[in-house]
Amino acid sequence: MSDKQPLDKNSVPTARHNQETPDMANYQAFHRHSIEQPAAFWGEQAKRIHWQRPCEQVLAYEQPPFRQWFAGGLTNLCYNAVDRHLAERPEQTALAYVSTETGIETSYSYRELHAEVARFAAILQAQGVQKGDRVLIYMPMIPEAVFAMLATVRLGAIHSVVFGGFASASLATRIEDAAPKVMVTADAGLRGGKLIPYKPLVDEALALAGSAAPDKVILVNRGLAEAPMMKPGRDLDYDSLREQHLNDRAEVEWVESSHPSYILYTSGTTGKPKGVQRDTGGYAVALAASMEYIYGGKPGECFFSTSDIGWVVGHSYIVYAPLLTGMTTLVYEGLPVHPDPGIWWQLVEKYRVSVMFSAPTAVRVLKKQDPAWLHKYDLSSLRALFLAGEPLDEPTARWIAGELQVPVLDNYWQTETGWPMLTLCNGVEPKAVKYGSPGLPVYGYDVRLFNEATGEEVGPGEKGVIGVLPPLPPGCMSTIWQQDQRFVDTYFSLFPDKLVYSSFDWGIKDADGYFTILGRTDDVINVAGHRLGTREIEEAVSSHSAIAEVAVVGVEDSLKGQVPKAFAVVRNPALLDDPASRSQLEKEVIAQVAAQLGAIANPARVYFVNQLPKTRSGKVLRRSIQALAEGRDPGDLTTLDDPAGIEQIRQAMKP
Ligand code: ATP
Ligand code: MG
Repeated sequence: MSDKQPLDKNSVPTARHNQETPDMANYQAFHRHSIEQPAAFWGEQAKRIHWQRPCEQVLAYEQPPFRQWFAGGLTNLCYNAVDRHLAERPEQTALAYVSTETGIETSYSYRELHAEVARFAAILQAQGVQKGDRVLIYMPMIPEAVFAMLATVRLGAIHSVVFGGFASASLATRIEDAAPKVMVTADAGLRGGKLIPYKPLVDEALALAGSAAPDKVILVNRGLAEAPMMKPGRDLDYDSLREQHLNDRAEVEWVESSHPSYILYTSGTTGKPKGVQRDTGGYAVALAASMEYIYGGKPGECFFSTSDIGWVVGHSYIVYAPLLTGMTTLVYEGLPVHPDPGIWWQLVEKYRVSVMFSAPTAVRVLKKQDPAWLHKYDLSSLRALFLAGEPLDEPTARWIAGELQVPVLDNYWQTETGWPMLTLCNGVEPKAVKYGSPGLPVYGYDVRLFNEATGEEVGPGEKGVIGVLPPLPPGCMSTIWQQDQRFVDTYFSLFPDKLVYSSFDWGIKDADGYFTILGRTDDVINVAGHRLGTREIEEAVSSHSAIAEVAVVGVEDSLKGQVPKAFAVVRNPALLDDPASRSQLEKEVIAQVAAQLGAIANPARVYFVNQLPKTRSGKVLRRSIQALAEGRDPGDLTTLDDPAGIEQIRQAMKP
């Protein structure tokens, strides 16, 4: 049954996608309570999960910026995500799996998931994995990847999931950092029908990692690649192990709340990825609360996140949050446009998806397709779509909200935080979505804007660095894996006397307290003393109807310090065949920026490309574009998705 109101295509759906949460009615008071009385607030939230032993102290904060949430409490992430639901919902689907790459479609009830996970944990245990050991998971989007994650935390071991298909050098540095006891991998991944054999990459990475390489590698053989070379004594076939341990089930290992659950690397958009370490209890509580207060997902419903388990969205909103809540998580292997651009919506209809989570970059891909695909299916189960990872520009947000007729909510957060920092919480009243803005600080986060130079807080209408006053709420990173000092130096050194957490993003707040993200602080463009966020200029460029997507970077200029240059993807590439129309379009775009932001923001040049260089997680690699535009080396490209993107930038600048 749908309770949606028919909306006119240009109207703005409000954030009221679920109005049944009474204590959210006065969001300001709710938020204030979470900031002023964090122990009371989070002590209450802690009841959402099972504690084998309750905590002694909700917040232990003796050594800022380190904090321990639910200190002294004993719990387990796997128990809370799986075992706890066995009594109430054993036959409900916990994990539904669809691969449009292999054609496999299958599902696991909570009872079946429990058996797979407890058995997988027994297999890991048989390979010597114990509490505190690391398990490196380098897997495609298959159910075994989720089993491996849950099995690891079941044992109190620590997973490090590395995005499947990453090159061997990137994988090797992550192996070196984690020094895993065991690695879990598969023969191959598939992307748009293209086979990516994993095992040769793994073998190379293991050789590169030297003494940090694990003793055992468990390989899930999907039968896709040619018989992978198995090194005797090291490489083990998962199917055989599963057969051998068919009736084995590992017990849950209760761990202290602060015990690390996983290590996960940031996307590497601005430089060397950081190994974010997450705790156990704080993370579980934060995710469980977010499912109600932010996403409005309920037990028994289906949550569909289109991300990959290799990213934080995958960790939090493919695996843990939906399962902690007793929902069905839909795990999808495939592209949004194959076999056709209706695939996501077909899945929404089939699995009666209630809440969906994706990224602006994927929506922009769909925007280029025929919108008829969106209307082929019954989407009445869907209540909201959340988008995160990159700025959500107004035209994209408006388009998808209009097509879907559900609220589309921008979520701003980072690998470091593990769950949203800025968004409109479920039921925020009576404020509506303002497109282009993710909205308000989420409960638990005291988000402020700071002047980069003076460290002073800036008021509404002034630009500043987005920071969070300590302590960071539950769920946020505990430290950088085995680098406590780097954690302090990296995140708390911008405004050290206040111990403010710096996001390294640049933003602005309006009179209603709504934030807008202006880009990364590294990318701020300084034109003759005027500081401009990349996002401001990008929005102005992309508001030209011919432009699909754009990246703006600051390029050294002897006169002005820096000038903006734009690299734009046009909607209709045929337009560019004619040099006259190309230069006409460049002029129009520059005029449009001047009209919207003033001449100071004018791009010195607008170059046209078919594709932008992006990280594997879909983020524009501005630092590499900038380096090329300044005639420098593009730098570390290990997280680059498609080398063609970089090549396009080079070509576009050729006279
Ligand atoms: P690295 O930290 O290694 O350079 P990264 O910052 O891209 O990589 P992630 O943690 O995956 O790694 O991404 C978080 C960043 O993505 C944020 O700091 C912000 O710059 C951007 N981001 C995420 N969500 C949004 C959003 N809703 N609007 C604007 N920007 C966003
Ligand atoms: Mg970052």
